[in-house]
Amino acid sequence: MKEYNGKFCLSLSNSFNLSEIEQLEKFHSHKIDGFFALYQNYEQVTRLKDFANKKGIYFQSIHAKHHPMREIWFANEKSDAVSNIIADLRDSIISAKKVGVDRVVMHVYTGFYKEDPTVLGLKRIGDVLETAQKHGVKLCFENLEGEQFLDAVLTEYHNCEYAKMCYDCGHENCYATHKVVDKFKDKISALHINDNLGIRSKDKILSGSDDMHLLPFDGNVDFSRVINIIKYAKLENELTFELKFCKDEIANKYRQMNFDNYLSLAKERMTEVANLL
Ligand SMILES: [Zn+2]
Repeated sequence: MKEYNGKFCLSLSNSFNLSEIEQLEKFHSHKIDGFFALYQNYEQVTRLKDFANKKGIYFQSIHAKHHPMREIWFANEKSDAVSNIIADLRDSIISAKKVGVDRVVMHVYTGFYKEDPTVLGLKRIGDVLETAQKHGVKLCFENLEGEQFLDAVLTEYHNCEYAKMCYDCGHENCYATHKVVDKFKDKISALHINDNLGIRSKDKILSGSDDMHLLPFDGNVDFSRVINIIKYAKLENELTFELKFCKDEIANKYRQMNFDNYLSLAKERMTEVANLL
């Protein structure tokens, strides 16, 4: 088996109950090479970037705030809520550019309703994409519940080289987004690797509580499929994990560990994923 030479990246998470800088210090001491952060504001990402530069840590991407993205598709033309969401998404793109991060990950829809994408929604996403293009930042739309919305966005903006996908293998497992991932796998430019127990409801009803962000191999994600996708997307040198302590009792075992022990275990599992490449 040849040794893995690529980077391991991990998400910062407030579920770890440490400040972002404290988390970075811990990641660094466990030889985790990079990280991504949920966007708050320009000052926050500048602080992270300065610290990362000092320590030689790689700032892999910025995750946009968790906006109520359903509004983008269904709120009326004059919605202030939507104007604020778009302004904030643009702000995260411009901040990414300023701190030298080349990708912003965002959601295109939130909600578990059976409904269809709208022309207005596509136009609004297009407005955000225009900012991304202008600043040379790739917008990576994440696979989530409501895959018809991701399908619509990537169909509409297929030719735009700044319209990309972030492949979250946990979301695929618990929101059954296999079809849209396969259809647009050419667009995959970022990874969120994590595990869960799939759709737990007997009636196959999707639920946010199934999105657990467990350590790889603590759930039932099909890692042979994940590895094929990583190789297809040529992202083997940047394995990015999105792990956290979810609210479900299944995560109690993580919460009860000393954080250093948790990170050691996480690093072991990351290495196991890399060994499958
Ligand atoms: Zn994710």
